[in-house]
Formats: sequence, structure tokens, C-alpha cells
Amino acid sequence: MTSVRCPICDAAMPGDWSEYPEYPFCGKRCRTIDLGRWLGEDYKLTSGAGPSDDRSSPADPDADR
Ligand SMILES: [Zn+2]
Repeated sequence: MTSVRCPICDAAMPGDWSEYPEYPFCGKRCRTIDLGRWLGEDYKLTSGAGPSDDRSSPADPDADR
């Protein structure tokens, strides 16, 4: 059994690697993060004006209370 983990978020990636179009990353988001690291540390992915498709905001003021 080969267990692959995302080098960015360290998430386990079960299944075949061919299931991940952004391999070796778990998704486009982590690939973008890695790309940002290559381009420069000052590249902020979560600056608010980033690409959409981010449904899991860590701090949502309207969430719950
Ligand atoms: Zn990841």
C-alpha cells in the first residue's frame, strides 16, 4: 500500500495518484500555495482577492454566532 500525502497540507491522499489531477498535491489550492512559495513568500493566497472556489473560510464572521 502506498500512502501519499500532500506536501503542502499533509493530507492523506488515498487511492490512486491518477485520481488527483493536481498530483502530487491534494488539490488545486495546495498547488497554488506551492506555486506561491516558488514565486515569493509575499504572495498571499488568502488576501481576499484570490481565486474563488474557497468554500472553507477559516474565519467567517457570519458563521454561527
Ligand atoms: Zn493539500
